Amino acid sequence: MSDAELVLRSTRVITPEGTRAAAVAVSAGTITAVLPYDTEVPAGARLEDVGDHAVLPGLVDTHVHVNDPGRTEWEGFWTATRAAAAGGVTTLVDMPLNSLPPTTTVEHLRTKRDVARDKAHVDVGFWGGALPGNVEDLRPLHDAGVFGFKAFLSPSGVDEFPHLGQEQLARSLAEIAGFGGLLIVHAEDPRHLAAAPQHGGPRYADFLASRPGHAEATAIAALIAQARRLDARVHVLHLSSGDALPLIRAARADGVRITVETCPHYLTLTAEEVPDGASEFKCCPPIREAANQDLLWEALADGTVDCVVTDHSPSTADLKTDDFATAWGGISGLQLSLSAVWTAARGRGHTLEDVVRWMSARTAALVGLDARKGAIAPGRDADFAVLAPEEGFTVDPAGLQHRNRVTAYAGRALRGVVKSTWLRGERVYADGQFTSPKGTLLDRP
Ligand SMILES: [Zn+2]
Repeated sequence: MSDAELVLRSTRVITPEGTRAAAVAVSAGTITAVLPYDTEVPAGARLEDVGDHAVLPGLVDTHVHVNDPGRTEWEGFWTATRAAAAGGVTTLVDMPLNSLPPTTTVEHLRTKRDVARDKAHVDVGFWGGALPGNVEDLRPLHDAGVFGFKAFLSPSGVDEFPHLGQEQLARSLAEIAGFGGLLIVHAEDPRHLAAAPQHGGPRYADFLASRPGHAEATAIAALIAQARRLDARVHVLHLSSGDALPLIRAARADGVRITVETCPHYLTLTAEEVPDGASEFKCCPPIREAANQDLLWEALADGTVDCVVTDHSPSTADLKTDDFATAWGGISGLQLSLSAVWTAARGRGHTLEDVVRWMSARTAALVGLDARKGAIAPGRDADFAVLAPEEGFTVDPAGLQHRNRVTAYAGRALRGVVKSTWLRGERVYADGQFTSPKGTLLDRP
């Protein structure tokens, strides 16, 4: 490590080979070596010793709604990426909807990149959108660097991003498969949603009944059939229901190329504890019962669910009314995801290595960034989250960085405090303080 500029040392560095005391050598923003803890620090290198704090590869959150430009009163690149940095997230991939314009043409992608460029406190990539009318835009978007394409199979919640019917799904997926792309899908079947009781109002039980688990399972079954027929690569977004897990396991065993994510709120919050009228807990698909949550944890443990991402999707507070039918659906968890997942994971006997696999390694692999991100190993970007795993805190919305400080986690006691966050060898966040934005805009490799 003779050319190292920085040596980051800890008794708990989480590497792909396990957790160990190590000295991580960094040069020009890249990890050059992971060495024994007591290796002599070369002259000219700066030593940062974080003691017993755990050093994790920075998290890669592939499901974030930044809403910028167009709905910047909801969220924006400046605030979202500060929330990310404060939460140990060093890469986020922005969803194509809720911004105006949505990321559905190359021109729109250019608009978004221009807006994000000077505001990014962490690295930012972009998903494209697959709409009923934009099949001919998909390949140009792919060539312009989006990581894949998002589609809805039921109404998205915003008029400018209509969902795909089954024939439209087949057309878009065939096009995407033709250039080796990835389709990521909000999978709820609209017929099952329409057939469910739609009472509206403030009762959480009524909202839950309006988005049944079999709506997810039915949509996922149809997606699996299309992926199998076209030999296409697909990814299920924010799985909330355990009903679909047997289908997914069987499809995988058959060689269907399908991956699956779930979210911190499905793993840490339960329907039983959502107060009536508390629409800060509203998201689609919904937070379900504790027994269902156990199925999601089992599926994470056995690898059926690949990864955990936030689906950070804020709005202004006034849209979070006490009527679950009309309130904006979305949970803002970007800054708290690591602590929330770690708190629940350790209670179930999981390790920080598991959390890193779910929230950094596998998400990096999902978007093809695994040569650069997702591990503390030579050749990767020197992106780190320094975590005090045993330290506890109570969530105070006033300490959150996202634009509208509405959160389902308010008042929760969590473990795991992010002490500092590093992006390509620079400390971009520490103890509530941020540097000027150092993030870059990423293209699909
Ligand atoms: Zn989403």
